[in-house]
Amino acid sequence: MRKFILKNRALVKTISWRIIASVLTIAIIYSLSRDIVAAVSIVGVEFFTKMLMYWAHEKGWSYISKPKKGSKVRSLIKTASWRVVASIDTLVLVLLVTKEPIWAGSAALIESIVKTIGYYFHERAWNLGYKLTIALDLHTHTTYSDGTYTPHELIAHAVEKECEYISITDHDNFEHISHLGEISKNIKYIPGVEISAEFKKTLHILGYGFDPDHAELKSALNTLQEARRKRNIAMLENMAKKGFHISMKELHEESRGGIVGRPHFANLMLAKGYVKTYQEAFDKYLAKGQPFYMNKQRLEPKEAIRLILDAGGIPVMAHPYQTDLTSPELEALIVELKSYGLQGIEAYYCQHTKEQVKEYLEYAKKYDLLVTAGSDFHGGNKPDIDLGMNVNRLHLLPFLEAIEK
Ligand code: AMP
Ligand code: FE
Ligand code: FE
Ligand code: ZN
Repeated sequence: MRKFILKNRALVKTISWRIIASVLTIAIIYSLSRDIVAAVSIVGVEFFTKMLMYWAHEKGWSYISKPKKGSKVRSLIKTASWRVVASIDTLVLVLLVTKEPIWAGSAALIESIVKTIGYYFHERAWNLGYKLTIALDLHTHTTYSDGTYTPHELIAHAVEKECEYISITDHDNFEHISHLGEISKNIKYIPGVEISAEFKKTLHILGYGFDPDHAELKSALNTLQEARRKRNIAMLENMAKKGFHISMKELHEESRGGIVGRPHFANLMLAKGYVKTYQEAFDKYLAKGQPFYMNKQRLEPKEAIRLILDAGGIPVMAHPYQTDLTSPELEALIVELKSYGLQGIEAYYCQHTKEQVKEYLEYAKKYDLLVTAGSDFHGGNKPDIDLGMNVNRLHLLPFLEAIEK
């Protein structure tokens, strides 16, 4: 039912408004004339005339000016002009039926006031129950990986941003789950993780709604953490040899006790004046191919997907554009991952262009994949990225239904 209404929102909304508008008109005319037959017959005719005039009014406006995004003035003038047209319609109809100019004039006047208020509340009600967009964020990082917000701070921020759902997807771990604290009732929390998979460029697999006590998933991620710790030590030794002195203690302070990653190295290099900007640390030293870069152990894509599935979770391909593949190559990769059990694709991502979103939505449709949306919020470590995404609710519905099962 809910899905049907959302899919046919414009139609159902028009009908619901026509019903309310008709009841209002009957009430106004009856209270003036005490003539229920006149009131009902006027509304009966009005139903069709208003429909026709509304259509003509819309057409007319589309000739005069095209709607521009965020153009409040146009929509205000348009609403006002429609109220004038609609009142004239009422005026003429009431006059024809009752032959009472006073009633006709009052009906038109009262109608324009009552309906303006009624329409406003009708819009509000629709936006509360059946808003076309949804605010949520299914891809975020906390202090348990390379974000700067604690889980509690991050969820509180998501509530401020009026997100309906929030998922925390730290790199290769879900430590955050045991440090959530109390979660506001105004938001739904989804357990998440982002696993880096072995791939020539970047391939990250998101997992949602898994069992956090699943032994095999936990131990696989623990092995990755252990390998990461060893890599970090080796990186520090290598940096010290080249005159860049950073200690493990400083790294742990920088990561606020969470898992240490390259962004923490970059922050310290910046703080100590070894580089002028955070990005310079990556471009000159830490990025793949640069002197301090050291590969870390990753899971094979197939293994990452299997582990998430075994733990009862939903595996989703993160930020497809980061694979750096051409469209046919990406499509082939999606087919391959799907054969391993991939269930979703992060079509909405903060860095995806409109064209990319469209392309990824098409893959989702073609390969029967769930659609997700994430900002990849890292707090102060990626200050340009804001928490929360506003996307088409219909596209997210299948995922949200699957996660609530
Ligand atoms: P790590 O897991 O320790 O290898 O660090 C990976 C993280 O470093 C990623 O999640 C990004 O946040 C960041 N990162 C990797 N490459 C770059 C880059 N070229 N520029 C800026 N940040 C990067
Ligand atoms: Fe990151
Ligand atoms: Fe990622
Ligand atoms: Zn991420």
